[in-house]
Amino acid sequence: MDYISAGDIEKYSYCPLSWWLSRNERNKNSEGVRKHREIGKKIEELRGERRKIKAWESMIMYYSLAASIIAILGFAFFYTSILLGKVFISLAIFWLLLALYFLWKYEKSNVENSKPMGKLMIIASSSATIFSIFAVTFVLPPNYLMGYLLEISSLLWLIFATYFLYLALKGEIRYNKLRRELKLPNGEIIYVDDLERSPLLKSEKYGIWGRPDLLIKMGEDYIPIEIKTGRVPRGPLFSHIMQLTAYMLLVEDNFKAPPYGLLKYGNMIYKIDYDKGLKELLLKKVDEMRCALKTGEVHRNHNRMGKCLHCSRRDICPERLA
Ligand code: SF4
Repeated sequence: MDYISAGDIEKYSYCPLSWWLSRNERNKNSEGVRKHREIGKKIEELRGERRKIKAWESMIMYYSLAASIIAILGFAFFYTSILLGKVFISLAIFWLLLALYFLWKYEKSNVENSKPMGKLMIIASSSATIFSIFAVTFVLPPNYLMGYLLEISSLLWLIFATYFLYLALKGEIRYNKLRRELKLPNGEIIYVDDLERSPLLKSEKYGIWGRPDLLIKMGEDYIPIEIKTGRVPRGPLFSHIMQLTAYMLLVEDNFKAPPYGLLKYGNMIYKIDYDKGLKELLLKKVDEMRCALKTGEVHRNHNRMGKCLHCSRRDICPERLA
C-alpha cells in the first residue's frame, strides 16, 4: 500500500486541486520551513536544559549523600561507643540479608525485571558495607586527626552539592523562560520534528505516515502538537484539524489513543478532541485521495474566492476563482 503523508492530507483538505498541483513541488514554502527549524531549535534547547537540570539534581543527591556518610564516619572517629557499634552492625546485617534476597530475586527474574533488581541489590550491599564500616569505627579507640579530616572532607562535598544546587536553580530559571517564550503546555517533550533524530510515525493499518512537530507526554498520554507559523486565523482551520487528526491516529497506532491534540498558532493554542467522528472523516479523506491517485481526476471542491486568494498554487491552477 502507498503511504499518504499527514502533510498531504492537510493540502487535500484545504483544496484537492492544491494537493494535486503540489505533488511535483519541492518544498517551496522556505519561510515556513525556516520558522519551523527555529522553533525546533528552541525546543531542542529546552530539552537540553531539562537534561542538564536532571543531571545536576542527581549530582546534588549523590554529593549530599556522600557528605552525610563521611560526616557520620568522621563523628565515629571522635567517640567509642559499643552501643552504637552494635546498632550499626545490626543495620549492616539487615541490609546484607536484603542484598541476598535481591540477589535471589535477580537470579529468578526475567530480562525486564532484572535491571531494577540489580539496582536494589547494589543499593542494599552498599548500605551493608557503609553500616559495617560505621560499626567498626565506633568500637575502635578515638582518632581525632582522622575525625577532623573526614569532617572537613564532608564539608567540601557539601560545598560541591551546593554548587550543583545553584546550577540546577539557574537552569530551572532558563528552562521556565524558554518554556514561557514557546508557550508550551506542561509535560515531558519526547519528540521534536527533526529529520535527523525523530523517527517517522507510520500506520501500516491505514497507510499513513507523518512527523508531528511535537509529542508531549502528559501523565500516561502522548499528545501531538502541530505548530503553525505565519498568519494567525480566528479559529482552527479545517485542513489543520485534519492534519492533526492524522497525527492523533498515528499516535494511537504507535502508542495509545490520545484524548486530544493541540494546534498552536502564535500564542493561541486550540485543543482538538480525538473522537470517532473526526477519525472517520479523516479516513474518508484518505480514501478519496487514494481514489484520486488511481483515476487522476481531481478538481476544486469549493466556491470560496478567499481560499483561492490565499492559495500558494493559484498561479498554476486552471480552476482558480481569484
Ligand atoms: S487556486 Fe483555488 S482552486 Fe486552485 S488549487 Fe488553490 S484553492 Fe484550489
